[in-house]
Amino acid sequence: MKNKTIIVSNRLPLNVFLEDTGEVKVSPSVGGLATGMKSIHQNSESLWIGWAGIPSDEIDESTTKEIKNLAYNENCISVPLSEEEIEEYYFGFSNRVLWPLFHYFMEYVDYDENHWKTYKKVNEKFAETILEYLDDGDKVWVHDYQLLLVPQLIKEKRPDVSVGFFLHIPFPSYEIFRTLPWREEILEGILGADLIGFHTYDYERHFISSVSRVLHYDTNINSIHAGSRIIKVDSFPMGIDYEKFHQEAEKQKNKNEKTLLKTRLEQNRALAPDAKFILSIDRLDYTKGIAKRLEALEYFLEKYPEYNEKVRLIMLAVPSRENVPQYQQLKKEVDELVGKINGKFSTATWVPVWYFYRSLPFEELIELYTSCEIAFLTPIRDGMNLVAKEYIASRTDQTGVLILSEMAGVAQEMNDALLINPNDYNQMAEALKTALEMPLEEQISRNQILQKRIKRYNVEKWASAFMEALNSTTQLKEEKLTRFLGKSNFEKIISKFKASQSRIFLLDYDGTLTAYHKNPEKAVPSYELYNVLNQLIQNQVEIIIISGRDRAFLDRHFGHLPIQLVAEHGVWIKNSGSKWKMSQNLQKDWMESIRPIIENFVDRTPGSFLEEKEYSLVWHYRKVAPGLRDIRSNELSNVLRGLLANSNIAVMQGNKVLEVKSGSINKGNAANAFLTRPYDFIFTIGDDWTDEFMFQQVPEHAVSVKVGTTETDAKYFVENQTSVISLLKGFLVE
Ligand code: UDP
Repeated sequence: MKNKTIIVSNRLPLNVFLEDTGEVKVSPSVGGLATGMKSIHQNSESLWIGWAGIPSDEIDESTTKEIKNLAYNENCISVPLSEEEIEEYYFGFSNRVLWPLFHYFMEYVDYDENHWKTYKKVNEKFAETILEYLDDGDKVWVHDYQLLLVPQLIKEKRPDVSVGFFLHIPFPSYEIFRTLPWREEILEGILGADLIGFHTYDYERHFISSVSRVLHYDTNINSIHAGSRIIKVDSFPMGIDYEKFHQEAEKQKNKNEKTLLKTRLEQNRALAPDAKFILSIDRLDYTKGIAKRLEALEYFLEKYPEYNEKVRLIMLAVPSRENVPQYQQLKKEVDELVGKINGKFSTATWVPVWYFYRSLPFEELIELYTSCEIAFLTPIRDGMNLVAKEYIASRTDQTGVLILSEMAGVAQEMNDALLINPNDYNQMAEALKTALEMPLEEQISRNQILQKRIKRYNVEKWASAFMEALNSTTQLKEEKLTRFLGKSNFEKIISKFKASQSRIFLLDYDGTLTAYHKNPEKAVPSYELYNVLNQLIQNQVEIIIISGRDRAFLDRHFGHLPIQLVAEHGVWIKNSGSKWKMSQNLQKDWMESIRPIIENFVDRTPGSFLEEKEYSLVWHYRKVAPGLRDIRSNELSNVLRGLLANSNIAVMQGNKVLEVKSGSINKGNAANAFLTRPYDFIFTIGDDWTDEFMFQQVPEHAVSVKVGTTETDAKYFVENQTSVISLLKGFLVE
């Protein structure tokens, strides 16, 4: 069988109806996500896993079975959820914690331990269903905030499977996200994915920042290092089915019969030929800024009374999450505001707000898009806002003005709209005036640009771009696997080791033989490490520890062993049983002028400190806050490199340290000093940038191993420091 893609979302793309006769009817639904995934869901082998929309305890066993079978005919697998599960997982945790928090409505967040427990349970249920249908080589694409824990639940059981995750709502800044009591679990849940997608770069940036601050993982511009895994993070702004909207609008132009809505719109226009219609369409959600929009309209009509009877807001609010208290309150507030404005500005022939509280069929939606000269979309916060794209796609003659909140993800792609801050009534009122007065040529030239982008980057492109990115993470993983020092690679190495006569191991210390510690003095060798070193020595292995540490530290911890030591990256060398020798003549006079500069950075950068070695100065910044860490280390590195440009003093970037020392001193040169005779087995291992010199300079037949998954010149890599001791023990097995 061909490999398949498993799409996972809270709801299946199906409408399930229970007829009075007890008969079950299932029809495909036409939402944005369903359309976007159509090419993936239909053109290739694929399964869609989600809830069918009817609580499992409301139907008997035979109906459940029937739904399951009918869904299966549409390549869908239904996850049965009880009414209580829906209440707690969907309305509870998803929509009373995650939704408000991720949209910056902290005051609406309602933490409830039971809701969290059910959220976890339901995510596990989804994961179990996925695992049941998962075959080797399949890919899984999980969608949205209801299923944040699913990626990890899949990855734990099936690390071989490529998992993608896309968040359709904003990801908030760290300052907001950190308030969530279950922040670690949520992040770990998402990080089960190999590719994590967001609508915009800002959401991506917020996510990466939260991961680095909450979980302390190493992060890059668009990747995260979590243990042995590299997780890609990227933005994929979701598009719409452009042709569907455009063609329907085109079709309606030439159609004679009209809906009642269209007839009424035309009658009204005939009554006031120079009046203009302003459209707003949203789910009735507090994130959409509906009340503020109405207040802005009121302000506009007061400020510019000449527009009374000249504009009408046609406001479609689609009922949503009516069981959640804030949505009930909002409904009341909007009802009252509409009443107030209509009461204040209506005349015998004119009502300023037409308010629909329902959803409309597709055809009527397009009629609204094509009949309104202005779209007034003012969300306080919105992951994307597809209505903005749909309005532009439906304007076949390219007229129309889009007023758009800059807080919507879509604003980043739609610079040619009139962008407003939804909290600024004055700006919104002025935008309305500009829109009402905008010449047709300007409307057309703006919309041409907007249409071009929306047409090209449509929803199908969005889905295929995501899948392509997911495929390339798989390739990367496969390439990487060939260099992973797992069982099969190790077997090849061990046979060479056993056959060898002269063996040398060049070992880095911090981050390799011992884990990093916030206080470097506390990163000391374990009993297990001593044990394995002693046994290697008994197995005729010559051991060299090549470290950045000073002589005193190495003496204290390794002085009693018959091994050779290199301190300060090669400044000092000590053969076993003899005294420390300097590897070359080194200058110290530069230290006087560099020390105060580093001290100044220590004063300005909480958590950092200066370590003074005999021939080098080291600025440690492991404990500095993540964002500041990069800024200050780059700044200090630039300052020092500038000052030392024409000297033989070098600035070296280590693992959360910046070291200033003689340029001819590096671990590669230090290693070479020991390779004076032809060893037939050379093994070298290290974890940071300074160890790359070693990997580059050892002879071709050497086995070089990097600890960690970042780019390296080493031949192999192991996941992390905790696997190093067992790797060394591997050489002792008879
Ligand atoms: N929509 C609909 N029926 C309606 C009104 C709107 O199907 O009566 C659709 C609209 O076409 C759009 C979606 O609902 O595709 C709303 O998506 P958007 O991204 O604007 O907001 P969301 O509801 O996802 O927050």
